[in-house]
Amino acid sequence: MTWPTIHKSDEERAGANLPDYEAGARAFSWRQARAMLDGLPGGGLNIAYEAVERHVRAGRGEALALRWLGRDGSVRDFSYADLNALVNRFANLLASRGVGKGDRVFSLLGRVPELYFTALGTLNNGSVFSPLFSAFGPEPVRARMTIGGARVLVTSETLYRRKVEPWRADLPSLETVFLTDCSATPPTGTIPLAGALEEMPVTFETVRTDPQDMALLHFTSGTTGRPKGAVHVHEAVVAHHVTGRFALDLREGDIFWCTADPGWVTGTSYGLISPLTNGVTLVVDQAEFDAARWYAILQDQKVNVWYTAPTAIRMLMKVGASVAKRFDLSALRLMASVGEPLNPEAVAWGLEAFGKPFHDNWWQTETGGITISNFLSMDVKPGSMGRPIPGVEAGIVERLPDGGVREVGRSMTSGELALRPGWPSMMRGYLNEEERYRKCFAGGWYLTGDLAMRDAEGYYWFIGRADDVIKSAGHLIGPFEVESALMEHPAIAEAGVIGIPDPTAGEAIKAFVALKPGFAAGEELRKELLGHARKLLGPAVAPKDIAFRDSLPRTRSGKIMRRLLKARELGLPEGDTSTLEGEEH
Ligand code: AMP
Repeated sequence: MTWPTIHKSDEERAGANLPDYEAGARAFSWRQARAMLDGLPGGGLNIAYEAVERHVRAGRGEALALRWLGRDGSVRDFSYADLNALVNRFANLLASRGVGKGDRVFSLLGRVPELYFTALGTLNNGSVFSPLFSAFGPEPVRARMTIGGARVLVTSETLYRRKVEPWRADLPSLETVFLTDCSATPPTGTIPLAGALEEMPVTFETVRTDPQDMALLHFTSGTTGRPKGAVHVHEAVVAHHVTGRFALDLREGDIFWCTADPGWVTGTSYGLISPLTNGVTLVVDQAEFDAARWYAILQDQKVNVWYTAPTAIRMLMKVGASVAKRFDLSALRLMASVGEPLNPEAVAWGLEAFGKPFHDNWWQTETGGITISNFLSMDVKPGSMGRPIPGVEAGIVERLPDGGVREVGRSMTSGELALRPGWPSMMRGYLNEEERYRKCFAGGWYLTGDLAMRDAEGYYWFIGRADDVIKSAGHLIGPFEVESALMEHPAIAEAGVIGIPDPTAGEAIKAFVALKPGFAAGEELRKELLGHARKLLGPAVAPKDIAFRDSLPRTRSGKIMRRLLKARELGLPEGDTSTLEGEEH
């Protein structure tokens, strides 16, 4: 069915930060966006300074920066001044240990207050912050910290013991490990964070960083090879700030709730930097998803802007719109969604449950910030990702045999979504992987790896990925990383991993394996393999299902044809199999 467009009233348009999309886009310049921020006294630009100290200096130190809701019902409030003091203490702590500009500081934490001042304190010190997802198993943690050359890690004792201690000796660059919570006898080679911070002064002069200095390292995955570390610089804060204003409609004093896990890019760009530069109060919930709890948070905290994800929306849909209606959600002005395709049913369900639609937006680790969005002032076409952010030019292109690209002219013609580089939060490289970075560009475009269409009114519609990466519950998963972990099991000769449709998580991870001689397929081995993968990779990355095959389809050059595994699994046409090994053509 086609879904009717959801029209916005003149009043809604007039009240939005970007009241008229076309006029706003025409008038926009990145220079003006930069002028919304202060810059460091005496020159330079630093994300942490723009997020916190700027507000304190302007007399807004008493405003609430962060309200943390503990799993056990406890609440901790941090004003901008409180946060500034903690950020400065952590920066002093790093400096006192000789950690300086460009050094990599990793976090492996759940949603705890320490994460917020660790991230900002690292940036304040001119060091590079790299967050890791706390549900990763030891292998993904090890791979990312090794590639990133971690010097400092902030984590908890439990996470440390399970995910870092077993291999720490292999990473000599990791000099310091701070523990946010620990027993009376913390593991050797670790330092309790709280005690160390207490000894530090609450003032710190922000290290003078240039807008082009590296600030953030966010890991993402491709179809093949190891995870890629996307490098972002301090100038990214210009895009974080202005996209927060335009796409999330953030205003000083707003209560904002971003439900993304801080271990991924959304949790940093919009769970931390953008809301704080915009002077809002950030709500952080430590607990896992629970429909009643979520509605209570929206109601009790009087959330004005809520940024969430399709998997969560679909989980709320399962519980039913009637539950939402039991709560007073009248403070909500904008509901936005990101990270995976937002089905039109979910957009329309928003209307039923909340009286307003979800506003989908699109971006990826590499773009550092929202690049396509449904704006508050814009009519929403359910199923569309919206239109480009002012200052970003998007296009639909096809790759040519000579390595170039050509824009596809007609509306609603599918092709690869491409963006003209030049916005401040665009990645500056994949760490130490020049070739992989270079391959992302052709004909003056950055190629996103997503397939999409554009309609006659300039709205973009997501079709799918151009490659084999998997999106499960909003997390991007590289099949190669999962296959490599499976291959470490002595029974497995070959492994191929795909995403299969899942009504809630978007995609679920499924593995196909062929066994080495001497091993017999069976339920017991299947369970053992599932357990093996879960132990190494963690629950978010491990396959949910494993199927045995005598052999896996490979190209003549030896690559596993995941596309074919998927077509066969889903009963879809097999497409071009001319490169299939052993096939007669
Ligand atoms: P990540 O780098 O982990 O943020 O994942 C980025 C990828 O998530 C994109 O390349 C898309 O494939 C997918 N994605 C993000 N936002 C959307 C959206 N609004 N609709 C469809 N897919 C999305």
